[in-house]
Amino acid sequence: MNLTGKQLIGNTLSQIGSHSFTGFNPATGEPLSTVFYEATSKEIDQAVQLADVAFSICRKKRGPEKALFLETIAEELLALDTELIETVCLETALPAARIVGERGRTIGQLRLFATMLREGKWNNEIIDPAQPDRQPIPKPELRQLQIPIGPVAVFGASNFPLAFSVAGGDTVSALAAGCPVIFKAHPAHPGTCELVGNAILKAAEKTSMPNGVFSMVQGVSHEVGMQLVQHPLIRAVGFTGSYRGGKALFDLAVRRLEPIPVYAEMGSTNPVFFLPRALKANAAALAQAFANSVTLGSGQFCTNPGLFVVLKSEESFVNQVAENLNKISVGAMLTSGIQKAFSDGITRLKTQSEITCRTHSSDNLTPVLLTMTAVHAISDPTVTEEVFGPSTVGILANDKTEVLDFAQSLKGHLTATIHGTAEDIEAYKDLIDILTLKVGRLVFNSFPTGVEVSPAMMHGGPFPATTDARSTSVGTTAIYRFTRPICFQDLPVSLQDEKW
Ligand code: NAP
Repeated sequence: MNLTGKQLIGNTLSQIGSHSFTGFNPATGEPLSTVFYEATSKEIDQAVQLADVAFSICRKKRGPEKALFLETIAEELLALDTELIETVCLETALPAARIVGERGRTIGQLRLFATMLREGKWNNEIIDPAQPDRQPIPKPELRQLQIPIGPVAVFGASNFPLAFSVAGGDTVSALAAGCPVIFKAHPAHPGTCELVGNAILKAAEKTSMPNGVFSMVQGVSHEVGMQLVQHPLIRAVGFTGSYRGGKALFDLAVRRLEPIPVYAEMGSTNPVFFLPRALKANAAALAQAFANSVTLGSGQFCTNPGLFVVLKSEESFVNQVAENLNKISVGAMLTSGIQKAFSDGITRLKTQSEITCRTHSSDNLTPVLLTMTAVHAISDPTVTEEVFGPSTVGILANDKTEVLDFAQSLKGHLTATIHGTAEDIEAYKDLIDILTLKVGRLVFNSFPTGVEVSPAMMHGGPFPATTDARSTSVGTTAIYRFTRPICFQDLPVSLQDEKW
């Protein structure tokens, strides 16, 4: 398939604007050949208007019809075969095996939502029967169920070019709910976006979904995304990416004449607590597994363990982690911007006198371990903010009280992890209590990288990990970000089988 670089306004290709850009090969720094065009205001408006018309049809589609649409998207993604894998690898420098795995996860997610739709219980119908004879007043029949909210704007992140991008969790949960999607393509993988966008449009056509159920606009400037979020017919936003991007779009959305919900899944440093008996039993294996987790995908995971906490007496464990990190070589980062932000972030920390760098410095991209006392980390929360990439910050606590004080000082994170024996867990129950209020997922004796796509998954967490801690962006309950409850009182029998 030849890439066009144009906007996908429903099933029409459009190129009104003249502002162009290209993707880059992060491995070489070379620009790629396809020229992409930034969407104009007119094209953004056309896409949203079309989505609004499509919504009147999508919202009435039965579960099996939407399930077939999602299953057909999965088939179309598979049909792209090596063309898709090669394009993603070229645009991201991620290894093919990782991308094949991510495609499997994306397809599995589409099929999981399809299964939920076929089961038919996703709209959580609650029926309170009428009690006509109730005294002093009769009770009406009440039925509450979830209905889709309307066109959704979706933004994906650079580090998951398939699973958190065009056909990723936000798009799938919105389409499953019955909401049309306008996707803002990520400028770090615009060709991948076009291939996947076309696969969705093919699937829409094959399964008789209305034109406008999916559109995609390209853009390298923030303007495109900002206009999309401000469009009055957009009803919600799904965002995965940086804190800066997510918060900027959230602020825009709440300032609209009609504010809308923004589900922004942002960065996190995912603290890992290594408790004393677990280290006594297993320090070497934990130090290796931890270093592997920190450097997985060159550290470019939202669940990367960028922070760990140990007692100060565990110096040999800290040294083992540093030695292991020194032996790991990491691949190119996704974009020159991410590479620069990583270098700048590490330099900013390394130059502080309270922070010690435990790994070898080099001009090349190498994993980094920095340490500081718990007292310092508590006094300056900026030193534990996300530095996106292969680095981690060790917090050295004098005693359990400092471990708990540090935990208490944490802001919201996607995950926290505890490595502990049964005795450790008993002794640190209060740590679990504190962390439960700080994160979306609490992991025991494992590592946070790797997010299972399943109904019970919670991928979210209190601010600043997300802008809405009540929802998840992974797993089937993600659908409820794009629905709202409605209650019908004494709904006539003739309407009880309607497709609400
Ligand atoms: P990013 O730079 O924030 O980009 C994400 C999307 O948002 C892009 O389409 C970008 O478009 C747009 N955007 C960013 N700032 C904007 C602004 N001010 N106004 C309008 N649009 C804006 O994020 P990234 O570098 O691709 O991804 C890495 C980050 O994502 C890391 O912090 C990582 O932790 C996080 N992440 C989180 C999760 C999660 O589930 N919580 C998953 C994966 C990644 P433009 O480039 O055109 O601005």
